[in-house]
Amino acid sequence: MTLENKLKTHFGYDHFKKGQREIIEALTLGKNVLAMLPTGTGKSLCYQLPAYLMDGVVVVVTPLLSLMQDQVEQMMARGEKRVVAINSFLERGERASVFGRLHTYKFIYISPEMLMSDFVVSHLNKLTISLFVVDEAHCISQWGYDFRPDYLKLGDIRESLGSPQTIALTATADQEVRSDIAQTLKLNEWDEFVSSVDRPNIKMVVDFVQDARDKLDKLLEWVFFLQGPGIIYFSSKKLAEEVAIMLRDSGLPRAMAYHGGLDQESRILIQQQFIKGQLDVICATSAFGMGINKENVRFVIHFHMPLQLESYLQEIGRAGRDGENSISILLYSPHDEQLPYQLAEGELPTQYQINWLFQHFGDRLLYEWEEMEESIKHIGGFSDTSWRLTKDFLRSLNNSMDLKVEEERFLQYIDNRKKHKRNKIVDMLNWIQSKECKRKGILSYFGEVKQNTVEDCCHVCGIAYDQYNKKSSEVVEVTPFQWRDYLQALLSKSGTSYEK
Ligand SMILES: [Zn+2]
Repeated sequence: MTLENKLKTHFGYDHFKKGQREIIEALTLGKNVLAMLPTGTGKSLCYQLPAYLMDGVVVVVTPLLSLMQDQVEQMMARGEKRVVAINSFLERGERASVFGRLHTYKFIYISPEMLMSDFVVSHLNKLTISLFVVDEAHCISQWGYDFRPDYLKLGDIRESLGSPQTIALTATADQEVRSDIAQTLKLNEWDEFVSSVDRPNIKMVVDFVQDARDKLDKLLEWVFFLQGPGIIYFSSKKLAEEVAIMLRDSGLPRAMAYHGGLDQESRILIQQQFIKGQLDVICATSAFGMGINKENVRFVIHFHMPLQLESYLQEIGRAGRDGENSISILLYSPHDEQLPYQLAEGELPTQYQINWLFQHFGDRLLYEWEEMEESIKHIGGFSDTSWRLTKDFLRSLNNSMDLKVEEERFLQYIDNRKKHKRNKIVDMLNWIQSKECKRKGILSYFGEVKQNTVEDCCHVCGIAYDQYNKKSSEVVEVTPFQWRDYLQALLSKSGTSYEK
């Protein structure tokens, strides 16, 4: 049976999308694969199809619960019943039954956190794992923009599972991140497939505004002009919420906010409403989007500047999955880079915090800290992210180490990370301010050369904005609303909670 037959039988498609076939062939030859494929190009098919040519089970590690749930539901809808998601949602009773019949599944989706458990690994070890899949693999690399310390241990876990054949998938990773992924997963040999990050149907605009007030004006103008549905990204949860309220009060009733501060239920509900077309605009932080499969997003606006081009690309990549023309707008006012600098620093422990930790706890850091975790985190004033890094470092300590040397090593490590983050922000800023074609700039950042001329490429090359306008049936009357002064006050308020 040819690969095309398999494609037709199991997925109902006649043809592969660009990039899929090569990856699948490499897997059927038994090779490890590291693949970078832009979002919306059918990454999951690259491991789901080969699974049907293999005898054993396919273990898919994915950090995003929404993505996992989505994948499992899609497979079930397609008729594949031998699929299960193992994550923190699984209830105790359910868990026992799932592990009792683990051998009956063909696809086991699992979160990295669950894989950290010896119980889980010992059960997986009883199976024949024919393929080990790591999705969103950029999270593995400490230089990736969404680094998760739990992922660093995946290499060891992979080894304890007998080093099965592996495919690591990501949408955006530069060369540095790609080699880090391979190293962390302890792949000896692998084939690398790197697709272009270019999405010609997504038009790129940087809109230079004078100040915060002007930015709000421009945001409103764009939202009421552009055909939806659309996503507006903010670095502030509070602002995301306030702008959503403002939009509803101004004549766009189907606007909602989404951020990490909402409870799980509301987040799922809002995601679902957006996917089903019951919402026109989502005012979101970066917590929104990964794994959300919505084809017809027509615009993505950035109110705040992302911390690196990787996340920018990932976020604008949520537009135009259906291949139709879509537009991305980044609003920039002078000194906007200050907020990313602050946010980047807030993700790291300060020198003061590190010194305090070592002076105050000394030897106890070697054996007792886990019992005091909450109070150390609280008294030391660590943010969630900075504590995650610190905790991971503390876990690496053992009795034979010289704490003075380790403290120095940790300070050095944090300093490197800080420099790295600052450089990424500088790259982002240079791209924003550059006078050359925006697409060319992004492609060259990822080591590509812009090959083709793209119609309506970017604001530098020129865009006929009219075709991105709302259809006449959708045009709404803007209700006068005293939002200006209100939001102005909000913008100048300090201490709002930010989320990169
Ligand atoms: Zn251009």
